[in-house]
Amino acid sequence: MKTTNIKPKPTVFTIFGGTGDLAARKLIPALYNLYLDGYMPAKFTIVGLGRTDYDNQKFREILLDGINKFSRSGKADAAKWKVFSSCIQYLQSDAKKDKTYQDLEAIIKEKDQEWGEESNIIHYLSVAPQFFPIISKGVATINIENKEQRNRIVIEKPFGHDLDSAKELNKLLQSLFDETQIYRIDHYLGKETVQNMMAFRFANALFEPIWNRNYIEHVQISVTEDIGVEDRGGYYDGSGALKDMVQNHILQVLCLVAMEPPVSFNADEVRNRRVDVLRAIRKFGHEEVKHNTVRGQYASGWVAGEEVLGYREEKGVDPNSNTETFAALKFFIDNWRWQNVPFYVRTGKRMHQKASVISIQFKDVPHPIFPIEASESWQQNRLIISIQPEMSIRLQVQAKRPGLDMILNPVDMVFNYDGTYPAESPEAYETLLLDVMEGDQTLFMRADQIEAAWELLMPVVENWESRKSINFPNYAADSWGPEIAEALIAKDGFHWFTMPVKNKKDKK
Ligand code: NAP
Repeated sequence: MKTTNIKPKPTVFTIFGGTGDLAARKLIPALYNLYLDGYMPAKFTIVGLGRTDYDNQKFREILLDGINKFSRSGKADAAKWKVFSSCIQYLQSDAKKDKTYQDLEAIIKEKDQEWGEESNIIHYLSVAPQFFPIISKGVATINIENKEQRNRIVIEKPFGHDLDSAKELNKLLQSLFDETQIYRIDHYLGKETVQNMMAFRFANALFEPIWNRNYIEHVQISVTEDIGVEDRGGYYDGSGALKDMVQNHILQVLCLVAMEPPVSFNADEVRNRRVDVLRAIRKFGHEEVKHNTVRGQYASGWVAGEEVLGYREEKGVDPNSNTETFAALKFFIDNWRWQNVPFYVRTGKRMHQKASVISIQFKDVPHPIFPIEASESWQQNRLIISIQPEMSIRLQVQAKRPGLDMILNPVDMVFNYDGTYPAESPEAYETLLLDVMEGDQTLFMRADQIEAAWELLMPVVENWESRKSINFPNYAADSWGPEIAEALIAKDGFHWFTMPVKNKKDKK
């Protein structure tokens, strides 16, 4: 989160997995947009690594193609790309071979000499998780001056596949680097609306006095996707909704909603308060897993007039798969602020709508003074924070409908990013990559945060993995998930909030 105008030091940015999907789709477009907006260091070089047989020219062409397809700023400007791409080089290499790290050392030393000063070195591990250990060890062997101050390592998700593997990876990384050098990325935290949660809560005097169990009845966090697993079936079948979405993105968002005010905007102060939330969440025992969690898997069906496959028919997926594509859970946070306030979270694929929304429902007025006829469409106050695709905050209040009768209906006070700010918001990866270059860890996960999130979910993971679901698939494509997910919240007298779908017919 940029809070100063100081340009980062000269930077060597290495991307392991430079030939992969994430590099072309997100990383290079993000670095290019940072360059366009004047945020890249005055001196930088990007080194892409992979085994594929490219030369610099071919590698740059592939990346240009990625920018033209995926960059928020549209097709690359020829003159700007020429300068930017001259700072990109390709190192054909195998991550398993020592030579890779020797070649990288030579490039870094050459740049130090050319620039006449020591650079920061960022190693981005955009590769499958089985390569995290070997590459971490490899880059730690690179022999340069002052490497503790200069080296940073960025680890993509998934960070472990359970508590033990996350602990093991943390142990390895911490044996090679200082915690201040390790950036565990969760791109959700870089989203503009997610960052705004902190501004909204801690830069306004209005909300803090009512942000607690005395005024808030329940909280919902819903992250739904309308697509299926697409070509990620092989990966997804070994993961599932709980590990892919809840363990990281959703729990991080929950922490931002529930955290205590930090004493300052210092990275560790903010991260301490987020960890406090994870530690205060009530543990899941056998009974809680039974009553407070729901899993689902999508069946075949129709979406926008097109027939779609069920999860078990998708490429790379076991035809008898027990992997959940939907998860809903009820959490309680055992502290003074949140005692007995339920936090419902849900996430799923192939659902009716793509939307990430937080809904905070306030308690009802203590005593209704209006007659029943006046308040037929009564709705308790609700604060709706829409993360994507709409980026907005709505406060739902009751108002008198114009006319001679006293009839009440809910209306929205809306702050919408579109229309309030002229400039397009940066992509999450732009924010996060700039943070890495500036050495700001506020939006990255510390070792204890990752482990606390895994620890919390392990009883659910173990229960779901050891007990095969008897009713999968249990929700239709283009639906709101399994019926039991409705029951999870309905038994407490609530219902899932959904954003109005604007362009249903445009849905693909
Ligand atoms: P991908 O397209 O499969 O790319 C994998 C990369 O690893 C390729 O560049 C491949 O290069 C390289 N690689 C494989 N074996 C190698 C070896 N022995 N030595 C050197 N390089 C090797 O994967 P991805 O989608 O980019 O994902 C990368 C990471 O980001 C994963 O951890 C994924 O979970 C995470 N992630 C991805 C996305 C996304 O949108 N794609 C989103 C969130 C997180 P060569 O074949 O040229 O060797």
